[in-house]
Amino acid sequence: LRTTAGIASIGSGDDGAGGRRPGRDVLIASCACLLGVTSAIHVALYPRTFNSRPPAALLGEPEPGPAAELPATGASTAEISAADDAAPGSRLVLVVVDGLRDDAAGALGLERTPARDGALPALARCTLEASWPTFSTPGYVTMATGVPPALSGVHNNWFRPPVELDSVFARARAAGRSTQAVGDETDDWRRLFPEELGGQESGAMAFARATGGLFADGMPATDILLIHTVVVDDAEHISGATSAPVARAIESTGSWLRAAIGRMDPVRDTLVVTSDHGHIDRGGHGGTEASVVRVPLFLIGRGGRRGTAPDVCEGRPLSDLAPTLAVLAGTQPPRHGVGMVLRPVLALDSTVLDAADESGRRSRATWAAALGRAEVDAALTVEGPGRPAPFTGLLGLAAAIGLGRFLLWLAGRPSDAQVTAGRRQAGRAAGWVRCCATAAVYPLLAWSIVLLLEPGASFSAKGDDWPAYALRMFLLLSGAAVVAFGIHLVAFARASRDRIRRARAVAVAAAAGSWPIVVGLHGSPFGAPLGEPHLSFAVVLSGMVASVGCGYLTLILGLDAVLARAGARRPVPTAAEGFAAVPRTQARRRESN
Ligand SMILES: [Zn+2]
Repeated sequence: LRTTAGIASIGSGDDGAGGRRPGRDVLIASCACLLGVTSAIHVALYPRTFNSRPPAALLGEPEPGPAAELPATGASTAEISAADDAAPGSRLVLVVVDGLRDDAAGALGLERTPARDGALPALARCTLEASWPTFSTPGYVTMATGVPPALSGVHNNWFRPPVELDSVFARARAAGRSTQAVGDETDDWRRLFPEELGGQESGAMAFARATGGLFADGMPATDILLIHTVVVDDAEHISGATSAPVARAIESTGSWLRAAIGRMDPVRDTLVVTSDHGHIDRGGHGGTEASVVRVPLFLIGRGGRRGTAPDVCEGRPLSDLAPTLAVLAGTQPPRHGVGMVLRPVLALDSTVLDAADESGRRSRATWAAALGRAEVDAALTVEGPGRPAPFTGLLGLAAAIGLGRFLLWLAGRPSDAQVTAGRRQAGRAAGWVRCCATAAVYPLLAWSIVLLLEPGASFSAKGDDWPAYALRMFLLLSGAAVVAFGIHLVAFARASRDRIRRARAVAVAAAAGSWPIVVGLHGSPFGAPLGEPHLSFAVVLSGMVASVGCGYLTLILGLDAVLARAGARRPVPTAAEGFAAVPRTQARRRESN
């Protein structure tokens, strides 16, 4: 109410000081400040809203009894790599080389490494596809549960609570097998699966102990061991995916892996090496680029099929790894998993694989029912990456236009220049052209910078971490703001106070305008539904463009208000007039001396 009264009093009263109406400058500055702060808060909160829980109906399903256990894995044909009579004593080691790109996996040098018996063990090598968003936590959850992000609700690393879905580790524990995990830096897997991997040791010492004697007698001490290393991912984030530090990190990882293969007993040991996502060349992941989505898979030793072509798994999702690990461990697949066994890389009894696939089909039907769809792929299209929402995009456009109208109303009508009707028409049109043209400079420059920079509107642009990315974007957008608003200040240096105020109002609307439009096209101001991958990241970009632009305009409008207030007492030029007038005043002084 008070604000409305304020606007009314400004509109009616204070035209006395030649268009110097500091109240209106303050109001527009406040709007710019509010838009800047709100868009910045939105950007900060938006990725934190991505994660959700799986449907309660699904989690309520009863656990299968021990009777549902798969038959023990057994050898059946000549092509089977190793006799499997020792299945109870078999050991499965899953190594997750965080961030390892598919095209860099060859540098691990695993293909030509003989095992304990001096012969090359069975080795299957293929490529899987990680689902968007290609962050680590969704990747871990997909590998362990066989449930992709669109169904699990785990969409980025802000997912903190334990995973509620069934996992390979839980099935193994239920079957009486022991599980353990070790990481070189992070406790992520223990946090996600505390019941199953709770005893995880982490840190350099534990990691060196676990990898140093891997596959020696009594090592690992558990039936299933997860080894997680982030040295490659770290180096890629810092130096780029094709840099020398990455090559060194891959080589050091390869060296302990090769040593482990040299100790492995190909009759009872299986080594699975994979990664959660790749990286773009300059380092960064989260998007849908081929180098980020494609992840390598090596399956070495017992259960692995010899001599597979590298493209045998082309297009198969990372969620297919969970049932594959389960059949290698001789357990039931995770009961929520929708993945299917990776048959081309496995040399196991087909009855085992059929049983695992049957379990996958049951789970797919359960998911489809829980999500009210005929089948899980339809449910995945609904729950997964969406498309632009043109109708809400129009609402966003209306909001952006409404914002501009509102700001112009706040700026008020110009009270100056009583000129003849014809000249007024021409002057008004020219004024509008100048007003809109200068206001368009900032959004055009800002969006050109953010979209032309590799990789454009993609979560992979985040690179190392969000604060570093935000700082980099702030500096880049500040460059755009300084150029664009410099042009704006010069263009309106000689205009009347009222016209300057209107031009500033249009500039604020233009700086903030893309934000509601993009949020509208995305379909929702927050994560769910996630929307189209590029548009989803454009929500972050539009918020940043709006917050930086409005931030600089708040400063300019604040200065306008201070100068106008001073000018209400004594005639003083506006910020722009003062700026433009300084050299001339000095020149005049020099002449008079
Ligand atoms: Zn990473």
